[in-house]
Amino acid sequence: MRCARWRRVPLDLTRKAREKSAATYIDRAVQCQLSAHDDGEHYGLLADVGAYGTALWLRWHGTTEVEIVVRPDCPVAAPGPDSEGCCLFADHAKQHTWEDTLEEVSCTS
Ligand SMILES: [Zn+2]
Ligand SMILES: [Zn+2]
Repeated sequence: MRCARWRRVPLDLTRKAREKSAATYIDRAVQCQLSAHDDGEHYGLLADVGAYGTALWLRWHGTTEVEIVVRPDCPVAAPGPDSEGCCLFADHAKQHTWEDTLEEVSCTS
């Protein structure tokens, strides 16, 4: 199951994300994309960066620590000919999104 935590994106970070990604629209709140976890850092997808295979993530921990990080996409795809790619970033904790068989996974937030 996917982590159910949401975080409102602070305005200054929204602005920063727009500058970094050239995206015209940044969600005002993002849901953590990791598989359900009890503690630690949460990661919500903000936007793809112009360069291929990189994305902007909102990383937060607790209520006060929140920042934007740029991460390369996770390169690990599911085995098999019609394999699905993972929606997370390289070296993420927990499972790949395609390992999460309990729900339909889509890479959009
Ligand atoms: Zn989380
Ligand atoms: Zn992955």
